[in-house]
Amino acid sequence: AKDLVQFRNLETHFHTSAGVVKAVDKISFSIREGETVGVVGESGCGKSVTAMSLMRLVEGPHGVIAGGEILYEGKDLLKLSKREMSRIRGKDISIIFQEPMTSLNPVLTIGDQITEPLMMHLLLSRKEARQRAIELIELVGIPRAEQIYEAYPHELSGGMRQRIMIAIALSCNPKLLIADEPTTALDVTIQAQILDLMREIKRKLGTAIMLITHDLGVVAEMADYVIVMYAGKIIEEAPVLELFQNPQHPYTKGLLQAKPVLGQSQERLYSIPGQVPNPIELEDNCHFHDRCEFCMDICRQQQPPFREHGEKLHKTACWLYEEVGVAR
Ligand code: SF4
Ligand code: MG
Repeated sequence: AKDLVQFRNLETHFHTSAGVVKAVDKISFSIREGETVGVVGESGCGKSVTAMSLMRLVEGPHGVIAGGEILYEGKDLLKLSKREMSRIRGKDISIIFQEPMTSLNPVLTIGDQITEPLMMHLLLSRKEARQRAIELIELVGIPRAEQIYEAYPHELSGGMRQRIMIAIALSCNPKLLIADEPTTALDVTIQAQILDLMREIKRKLGTAIMLITHDLGVVAEMADYVIVMYAGKIIEEAPVLELFQNPQHPYTKGLLQAKPVLGQSQERLYSIPGQVPNPIELEDNCHFHDRCEFCMDICRQQQPPFREHGEKLHKTACWLYEEVGVAR
């Protein structure tokens, strides 16, 4: 399949009183048409910031895209005006978040919220938009669509609200759906239903999905391709089966071995010892070196190159796979 989105050396920084946080530090990867890319890593590793950079929602008084390109169908989104970008956002690329209650407007009916993008982006009349909205509510598997159309968000369950968010996100037939921890706030049964729905959408509509999650179980079930992020960097990427069968980076291996710890918050499930480094003090070395049992001198001194080691399409940034000669 063709590349739909290409991140090239993307750098997104936040200026804080303590210093510059390189939240995303020169990352490159692609999302192909109709493909689900899972982006995994612990809280604060740069997953969401990558997605927000793609939507051009990070720039502000503190956030800046400091370098790189984000090509969408070959066009650099970072060069678009605000106006051009708002035409792409919600139409070609749309996003759903973890907590649908905060993304839905509590004072507007479900119908109003689904018809709005249809009238704005597709210039449908109110009547046409209503018809399409009802089809969308049915598409996301909610019965009695006409009744739901008139309902307010608080009248729906969490799972139903997330289905509505998906309906809104799909309303303009986007080529890419970004889902940022879409099921984290839901209980396990509902979680499985929402994932089924997303798989069905991908199959029926051919929508590419960028699935951001800390949950490797979700990735195993959903993704075609996996990107593993750590402290602002991509440290490994591979097709899903290859990643699970043959993980290369010590961090990825740790993630795959880690068992969920009962009673711990959702984003701190991993039992890899140690802490993610302070994002302000990151150096040009392996950001995982403090936690890595294989750490060598060179790991503290230089950043490992990110490249293929053996298997095609499987890339890793780790000195263990390089001929480092005397440094070892
Ligand atoms: Fe561990 Fe060194 Fe590989 Fe980093 S580069 S993961 S410290 S072995
Ligand atoms: Mg996040």
